[in-house]
Amino acid sequence: MAVDPLAVDPLIELRDVNKYYGTLHVLRDINLIVGKGEVVVVIGPSGSGKSTLCRTINRLETIQSGSIHLDGQPLPEEGKALAKLRAEVGMVFQSFNLFAHKTVLQNISLAQTKVRKRRKDEADQRSRELLDRVGLAAHAEKYPAQLSGGQQQRVAIARALAMDPKALLFDEPTSALDPEMINEVLEVMQQLARDGMTMVVVTHEMGFARNAANRVVFMADGSIIEDRTPHDFFTNPESARAQDFLSKIL
Ligand code: ADP
Ligand code: MG
Repeated sequence: MAVDPLAVDPLIELRDVNKYYGTLHVLRDINLIVGKGEVVVVIGPSGSGKSTLCRTINRLETIQSGSIHLDGQPLPEEGKALAKLRAEVGMVFQSFNLFAHKTVLQNISLAQTKVRKRRKDEADQRSRELLDRVGLAAHAEKYPAQLSGGQQQRVAIARALAMDPKALLFDEPTSALDPEMINEVLEVMQQLARDGMTMVVVTHEMGFARNAANRVVFMADGSIIEDRTPHDFFTNPESARAQDFLSKIL
């Protein structure tokens, strides 16, 4: 079943996007619309361009042709507008990228005061609310190294949420975690999905894709090969590439 682009109110729109690293063509004519409140899970073999796709959406990478719009506006090129974009489209990475020498609370408050220009007491209050939301209210004064990997990743999610993002991008958020910590992070992400956050999630966690995704996008060699509901994708993958991929991971 093709996804009807008119059925959703688009938040992120990629049209005919092409990206090269030198001569390597890593994104090929990508067309992708992510509607407000949608959760799109991106899967595919290593090297297929999933990370690059995420990074182009918040302009950590430039593209060579095509267009990307957020909420109807083209992505800004530079300056303050670009910093605002990075706040509005938060990104959560495999490596949590917390500041080691700052407390959990400081990690979440810092960009609120710098980017969102909140007063420190306002920022700290918001940080504590978000820590509560990700189940870490008791850990505000600790340093990242005192937390488990799963806890650190939940702090990274709280930090992204503190910017009041329009959308969140997750690039393999659980891939660096010990198995027993994966679920606590996925549960936070599922709750965000239920709360209506627009999310693009690169993951190998097929349970998350089945439970939380509105759509599964399957990439191979820089192209989107399938873009379908999880039920359709998992029960009846159309392409040989997707069938082969699923047979190896399921
Ligand atoms: P995935 O996340 O699906 O594993 P990536 O988006 O990381 O794929 O990479 C897509 C392709 O682009 C790969 O062939 C990778 O080696 C290449 N690539 C990624 N980043 C760079 C870079 N900064 N410079 C050159 N090539 C890159
Ligand atoms: Mg990747």
